Amino acid sequence: MVRPQKDRRVAFNPTISYFKPRGIPMMQLEEVRLTVDEREAIRLSDLLGMSHEEAGRCMGVSRATFGRIIQSGRRAIADALINGKAINVAGGNYRIVDQNRIFECKSCSHTWEEEKGTGRPRRCPKCKQDNLHRILQD
Ligand SMILES: [Zn+2]
Repeated sequence: MVRPQKDRRVAFNPTISYFKPRGIPMMQLEEVRLTVDEREAIRLSDLLGMSHEEAGRCMGVSRATFGRIIQSGRRAIADALINGKAINVAGGNYRIVDQNRIFECKSCSHTWEEEKGTGRPRRCPKCKQDNLHRILQD
């Protein structure tokens, strides 16, 4: 029996979900699939610079599970970049949540996300200073 996978929280759902190399007709194009939760993992870790532990917390999964999600996502992207394949972002185990709020510590530059409705954090979870500000997103 396969244990049902818990949905991962995804706080980002852009309208662009297909990427293809220029100049290759669709008919000849191979495609890799990047799941929505894999893309979220890459956003949190590779773009925002969060640790696997912090990013896992944002998505509601353990550090180990987060590690597996991002590894599989990076492999799909690498396959597309190296072998000239299209990337189709679709599927996965996830549910879209309200956009999380992102804070940055001015003392140690630590960046982290807080779920909506949890109030303003008092201090940086890393260095415990209260010198933090919210990063605005569009
Ligand atoms: Zn800090």
